[in-house]
Amino acid sequence: MNKEDKVYVTRPSLPSLVEYTNEIRSIWDNKWITNMGPLYEKLRGQLAEVLGASNIELVTNGHMALELALQSFDFNGGGEVITTPFTFVSTSEAIVRAGLTPVFCDIDPDTYTIDTSKIEGLINEKTCAIVPVHVYGNICNVEEIDKIAKQHNLKVIYDAAHCVGEKYKGRGIGGYGDASCFSFHATKVFNSIEGGAICINNNENAFNKVRKLKNFGYSDTGDDINVIGVNAKMNEFSAAMGICNLRHLDDNIQKRKEIYNTYLCNLNNISGIKLNESQTMVTRNYAYFPIVIDCSKNGVSRDYVMHRLQNNNIFPRKYFYPLVTDFEIFKSNYDSSATPIALQTSQEILCLPIYPDLEISKVEEICEIIIESINSGGGKCAR
Ligand SMILES: *Cc1c(COP(=O)(O)O)cnc(C)c1O
Repeated sequence: MNKEDKVYVTRPSLPSLVEYTNEIRSIWDNKWITNMGPLYEKLRGQLAEVLGASNIELVTNGHMALELALQSFDFNGGGEVITTPFTFVSTSEAIVRAGLTPVFCDIDPDTYTIDTSKIEGLINEKTCAIVPVHVYGNICNVEEIDKIAKQHNLKVIYDAAHCVGEKYKGRGIGGYGDASCFSFHATKVFNSIEGGAICINNNENAFNKVRKLKNFGYSDTGDDINVIGVNAKMNEFSAAMGICNLRHLDDNIQKRKEIYNTYLCNLNNISGIKLNESQTMVTRNYAYFPIVIDCSKNGVSRDYVMHRLQNNNIFPRKYFYPLVTDFEIFKSNYDSSATPIALQTSQEILCLPIYPDLEISKVEEICEIIIESINSGGGKCAR
């Protein structure tokens, strides 16, 4: 069987080879291949606009964006960070690697983002920050989070890895919180092959520190080191890919929207299938199409539906399963039953294929298989 016959959850967006070749041509003239070259600066300027943040740095990936953002706020001596377990493991790994301790809050069952009514119960004198995740591009309750953070003097660092191209109340997502971190990984809506961005709001100290941290601790001009940094610089070839892909971002989001709406239309009102809620103030990027399959409704489990799709060469993903707190490295220190909504969602969630050139007829076929497997009543409701 040919790889082309298989439908995966996503497929990276690529410009034409000619477009990319034209973009990297200048590199052969100026011999500048990394270390904040002209393409880096060009992309940085463009993304400042798209993400809605003036203080922005580009880095090697979304994970490093999170790590460096956390380090930039000087939580000296560590501290506790309130976050959620229903996310890609990177969120929690960044917290631990920044010398901090994750404390897990449950999620809202409709948006899968942090349940703000449960944050204050987790705050104590060691708490230094909240790291909420805009899961699937669903925007967290930013107003409530902001209020809680101000009351308790906490920093808010958003994991906005899923959000490139989105707006909330007309404003780019990078403008929210003390910092917002984006991923430009191949699997995301917008890619620079690998890449990421840190947006820092209203904090020159933190922004200067991010700039140093990503380049071994060197300041822009100085020859001295006063902070232990890493190497997280985005190279020129990645920046060129980002510049090309940014030209097609709106088009790609439009194509995703058609796919998203086809799924909505076909899977609406199917007993036992819960769809992602729309958020009125959010301009979406249609990055994911998650469905929640409630086994108690008709006795058909998420895993059964997934199995049926796989038998038809369609490969959805269980984002996010297992919960972060169920990974071996976290398991001994945390209890997943303390976040019951997150736990249940992780057992019922399935993210369906969505990418710009997925054919509408394929989407319809996927919906048919799902509906047929739900109606078959097959597959035990094992959990
Ligand atoms: C992709 C992702 C990351 C990590 O980004 P990379 O660019 O892959 O390092 C972090 N958090 C979430 C929620 C993600 O989906």
